[in-house]
Amino acid sequence: MSILVIIPAAGSGTRIGGDVPKQFRPLFGGRTILRFVIDRFLGFPDVTRIVVPVSTEWLSRMQQELTGDRVQVVAGGETRQESVRRGLLAAEGSEFDVVAVHDAVRPFVSVDLFNAVIEAAHQDGAALPAVPVTDTIHGVHNGTIAATLDRRDLVAAQTPQCFRPQLLREVLERAAAEGVKGTDEAGLAARYGFTVRVVAGDPGNFKITRPEDLELAQSRWSS
Ligand code: C5P
Repeated sequence: MSILVIIPAAGSGTRIGGDVPKQFRPLFGGRTILRFVIDRFLGFPDVTRIVVPVSTEWLSRMQQELTGDRVQVVAGGETRQESVRRGLLAAEGSEFDVVAVHDAVRPFVSVDLFNAVIEAAHQDGAALPAVPVTDTIHGVHNGTIAATLDRRDLVAAQTPQCFRPQLLREVLERAAAEGVKGTDEAGLAARYGFTVRVVAGDPGNFKITRPEDLELAQSRWSS
């Protein structure tokens, strides 16, 4: 099995404080969150290439810091979707069985979870990990409840989201041509009629978004 991993890291998310995007903040021992994520995937022998789209502002610095045997840093785009599309284009010319797209700020993906999603995508074309929603979710309009969704039908999407390369290529090119913007690749694939398998996610595979997530990640790593 040959796997391409795309880690979109071109976001400017600084909600966590400071003016450095969260993926470039240190997680532990001076290593950044992004470095942890890359090292995690380098631990899988089947991962033959990792492409990391970053913003043009960070491009030359990250090319110096991260480029390696299996790691390539490229220019990302205005949206996550466009960053992933550019990552996939950068890997064109090489053959892979599966492409995995993983958030740059989700450092705790487990071996079992990755293998399960890869296997499902290899069989059925597309798959993602997701966890049940425990809060009730309301649709809100003008500050009042417009609709209450049945949480038994809802899951929260995680990454790595995995695809057969041709399927992801088709979905991203079609969305770009039609100006369709999704919030994740699995949702786009479903929108275009592909079956997307939902694999049991892991609450520990969380995304670092707020300052308290960074603290949780640091304490988890040190323990
Ligand atoms: O902002 P959010 O947490 O949803 O971002 C998810 C991932 O997409 C992050 O890893 C972020 O760096 C990446 N991203 C990107 N290009 C953008 C916007 C976000 O690669 N233009």
